[in-house]
This record gives sequence, structure tokens and C-alpha cells, in this order.
Amino acid sequence: MNCRRAQEWIESYIMGDLPPELADQLEAHLNQCETCRRCYEEQKRLIALLRRLFSTKQRMA
Ligand SMILES: [Zn+2]
Repeated sequence: MNCRRAQEWIESYIMGDLPPELADQLEAHLNQCETCRRCYEEQKRLIALLRRLFSTKQRMA
């Protein structure tokens, strides 16, 4: 697993769309790669924020 591939998978992983066998590989990579772990934390934060905005909008509609 290289960092480029890992970072392509991170978004799907956060959304829960990554197949379990790939998620295992990605988790193993995140455990040993600080760069991708930071990227993951950052995207997770961003997606959580977007979801919050989206659900707020839905409640107001
Ligand atoms: Zn990496």
C-alpha cells in the first residue's frame, strides 16, 4: 500500500463505503504512516462538519 492509494481510499473509508478487506489494509497503513493518519483525521473532521451542516439544513427545510 502506498500513500497515494491510501489517500484515495480514505474518503470511502470514512463514508463506510470501503470493503472490509481494503479497510483492513488502510487501517494497517494509517497505523504506520503519520502523513496519511493526519490526512485521515483532517478529512474525518471535514466530513463530520459537512454532515452537520447538511443535517441542519434538512431540519430547517
Ligand atoms: Zn501513507
